[in-house]
Amino acid sequence: MLPVFDLHCDLLAYLTAIDGADPMGDEIGCSLPSLEEGNVKFQTLAIFTMTGEGSVESGAEQVMAFSELLEDYDAYVQVLDDPNDLENIAESDFTTVVTAIENASGFCGEEDDLDEAFKTFETMLETIAPLLYISLTHNEENRFGGGNLSNNVGLKADGRVLLDYLSERRIAIDLSHTSDELARDIIDYTYAQGLNIPIIASHSNFRTIRDHIRNLPDDIAQEVIARGGLIGMNFCHEFIDEFDSDVLVQHILHGFELGGANAMAFGSDFFFSPDDAEFFYDHRNSAQFPNILTQLDSVLSQEQLHALSYGNALHFMNRLWR
Ligand SMILES: [Zn+2]
Repeated sequence: MLPVFDLHCDLLAYLTAIDGADPMGDEIGCSLPSLEEGNVKFQTLAIFTMTGEGSVESGAEQVMAFSELLEDYDAYVQVLDDPNDLENIAESDFTTVVTAIENASGFCGEEDDLDEAFKTFETMLETIAPLLYISLTHNEENRFGGGNLSNNVGLKADGRVLLDYLSERRIAIDLSHTSDELARDIIDYTYAQGLNIPIIASHSNFRTIRDHIRNLPDDIAQEVIARGGLIGMNFCHEFIDEFDSDVLVQHILHGFELGGANAMAFGSDFFFSPDDAEFFYDHRNSAQFPNILTQLDSVLSQEQLHALSYGNALHFMNRLWR
């Protein structure tokens, strides 16, 4: 069974927002037993907040939930203390977990002083480093730029300050929740300023296959590929197809066709959904990874399969942190 490295899930938001949330239960697809069963050896845990009142408090709660998870479930999860351990993750008995910030509103509210927010961010990092990536926005617009659902809003002045701040910090920037304008602005600005910030799309599929605002247009996907980034395939039903779970395979093939041999990865995006309708049954939890990989066995080469499952994410982190 191949090891799986997964770039995105919302376990921490579930643990902090839902009464009686249980990382061992079956309410969320990325439960600890599901990760174990699916041979998920690396899992990014997003600190996900919506822009608006209380976003910074919610971010802080999820930082605490991360610490508690590591303490209370040390039979399942471990941190990445030393980047040199990256080589051993795939053979480990544990799921190695690292954090990401899904929306900069998690450390900086709309009215907050930016310098104070950077101090908040540094304090967070003391607990959650290494941080794999930050996305400036979620679906909505904020002080940094335009989210997926915003209309014609790109990178704002505060967004430029944040990007300047992140250069050389060994933290990637994530385009999964940007508007197309913001994605293109981030690509252009980092290039023009010579900023050293890797660019990824942690949990995004392709708009050519499924025309959805959360999916990547080909030009942005190709920029991510050209910059040595990652594109994590999202299992959320809405972003795959209206009816057919097998269309996930088409998204994956499209990524390889765009030249993403070194970029393709998984970003399953499991989050709590009370009615179970957000994911196809075939993709309902992390325990399905072996089935999904078996399904891909006939359409991908062994090299592509290994790259998608763990190799590309592993190499990316090796370049980022070692
Ligand atoms: Zn997301």
